[in-house]
Amino acid sequence: MEFRLIERIRARTMQGREDVRLGIGDDAAVLAVPVGQELVAAIDSMVEGVHFPVGTASADIGWKSLAVNLSDLAAMGAMPAWALLALTLPQAEPAFIEGFTEGFAELAQSYRLALVGGDTTRGALTVSVAVHGFVPPGQALTRSAAQPGDVIFVTGTLGDAAAGLHCLQANVQSSAHGDYLIGRLNRPTPRVQAGMALRDMAHACIDVSDGLLADLGHICVASGVGAEIDASLLPYSSAMLGLFDDVSARDFALGGGDDYELCFTVPAARAADTQANLARLGCGGTRIGRIVEGQGVRVRDAQGHWLDAVRRGWEHFSV
Ligand code: ADP
Ligand code: MG
Repeated sequence: MEFRLIERIRARTMQGREDVRLGIGDDAAVLAVPVGQELVAAIDSMVEGVHFPVGTASADIGWKSLAVNLSDLAAMGAMPAWALLALTLPQAEPAFIEGFTEGFAELAQSYRLALVGGDTTRGALTVSVAVHGFVPPGQALTRSAAQPGDVIFVTGTLGDAAAGLHCLQANVQSSAHGDYLIGRLNRPTPRVQAGMALRDMAHACIDVSDGLLADLGHICVASGVGAEIDASLLPYSSAMLGLFDDVSARDFALGGGDDYELCFTVPAARAADTQANLARLGCGGTRIGRIVEGQGVRVRDAQGHWLDAVRRGWEHFSV
C-alpha cells in the first residue's frame, strides 16, 4: 500500500507499548510476550455483504472487525495486546481507509491494543484481523469445562444485533430504539473486562456470535453435557421490548447472531457472586438456565412447556 496511508494507520494505532519491539514498517513485527504469561491468538475475517451489510460506514467496519476479534479473546479470558490487519479493498480509497482507521483505533485505544502489522491487497472488500492477548498459565477459559449442575449466564442483552439487521432490511421507520439496535449490530461491545473477571469464576465460556442456541450448543458438544434454557429469563434491551413482541424477541435472541455477549457456566454455589461481579462491571449478567447431563439445548417457555425447535425454525441451530 501507499506509504503515506500505512503511515497514517501506524500513527493512529501505535500505543507506545514496551512489548512491541518492532511494529509496522519492517517485514514483520517483533513482540515480547510478558514472562509468565501464555499467548492467546485468534483471527476472524469479515466479507462485505456476508458479515456486514453493503453500505456499512467505513468507521463501523473498522470498529466491528476489531470488536469481533476482541470478543474471541474475551471468551478466553485474555487481556488484549496486539493485532494484525489484512485489508482487501476494491480500490485504495483514502476516505475509506481514513474512516476505517478511525473506527478501528477508537476501539483499540480503550484497550491500549497496538496494531503491529498487516497486509493490503486489491479485491472484494474483506477485512481480516488477527489479535493476540495474554492469560496467566492454565487460566484460559474454554468451551469444554461445563459440568452438570452449572448455572448458565449471559452478559448484556440478547438478540439486539439480529433485531437491528431486521430494522435495516425491512426498512423499519427510523426511531431511537431502531438506532440503538442498529448500533448494536454495527458497533458491538466486546466483553473484555467480564472475560478476564470470569477466569476464576466460570467453568466454560463462549462468545455469542451465531445465536445463543448455536453457541451454547458448542459448549454442550465440547463439554459432553446438555443445557436447559428458560425463555422467560432471557435478557432483552428496552429498545428490543419497545419495538418487538416477546415471541420475536425470543426468536432474535435464540437464533440471531452478532451479539458478541459472553455465555458461560458457573458452579451453582458461585452464581450469586458472579451476578454481583458482573453488575459491578457494568454489563450485567443474567442467569438463563442450567447445564444437565445428556446432550443438546432445550428451551422451556414461561408455562414450563418445551419449545419445538423445528416448528420455530431453529433446527438449523440445534446441535
Ligand atoms: P511486505 O511486502 O514486506 O509485506 P508491505 O508493503 O506489505 O511489505 O507492508 C509494509 C509494512 O506495512 C509492514 O510492516 C506491514 O506490516 C505494514 N502494513 C501493510 N498493510 C498494512 C495494514 N493494512 N495495516 C497495518 N499494517 C500494514
Ligand atoms: Mg506484505
